[in-house]
Amino acid sequence: MVELPPYLSPSSAAVFVGCPRRWRFKYVDRIHDPSGRAALVGTFAHLVLEHLCGLDAPERNLDVAKRLAAEAWPEFATDEDYLELGLADDEARAFRWQAWLAIAGLWDIEDPSTIEVVSTEQRVKTELGEVPFLGIIDRVDRVDDKLVVSDYKSGTLPGHRWRGEKIQQVMLYGAALEAAMGELPDRVRLLYLGQQILDVHVTERRVEEAIDELGTVWNRVQTACSAEQFEPNPTVLCGWCPFVASCPEGQAELAIRAEAGSLPAHAPAAALVS
Ligand code: SF4
Repeated sequence: MVELPPYLSPSSAAVFVGCPRRWRFKYVDRIHDPSGRAALVGTFAHLVLEHLCGLDAPERNLDVAKRLAAEAWPEFATDEDYLELGLADDEARAFRWQAWLAIAGLWDIEDPSTIEVVSTEQRVKTELGEVPFLGIIDRVDRVDDKLVVSDYKSGTLPGHRWRGEKIQQVMLYGAALEAAMGELPDRVRLLYLGQQILDVHVTERRVEEAIDELGTVWNRVQTACSAEQFEPNPTVLCGWCPFVASCPEGQAELAIRAEAGSLPAHAPAAALVS
């Protein structure tokens, strides 16, 4: 039997739902899974916004954000994952610019100097239903005396079809916050930097649905661990899977898609079958 993980986070649950085999590589075998460029842009933007929102409200302006970004950059640029990108000077400049657009994109959707911030990067470890849960909440605000959970997103706003899943993940943060602080948040918000805010009212029913869904995933994780069976789920996303070189089913999927012309050329793993 494979040892169960000590907890499930929204991101690990999402990986399992996407492909149990990929989950095994990442969370059981712990094969190195370097963050890609887009994820690292988001990591740097999160870092700067965390520092910004730790300041007194009147100090939260674009000039201060620029200074914080300049101060944070030297250390970030020595991060192993960033160095692995192997960016040339002009590519590194483009990376910093993209990160800055994400940071400055906060002002397109809200004025941070008007926000009453309760906490940033709050770690919540609790039980949701029967599931040991760990999450890190980007920001908790207080609006009209009620708690609001905010989650930064530096990627593209998903189409309507895909939003439910993202909202359910952040609803879990709401449930975990209630367990930690004894107060159910009024709203959860996904802040798509530079784009728009998805703002959803928290209800007991929505929270229960999210916890039920998490419980279903946890049951599947337990079954997979006890049977030591982690089924592959080959899809077009194999083109972005960092473990495809260790996965025959993923490679077969890529070969079929390459043959059919349905594998995007920009997929990192496309080179394996070209
Ligand atoms: S290559 Fe595809 S099937 Fe294989 S682990 Fe990755 S996502 Fe899953």
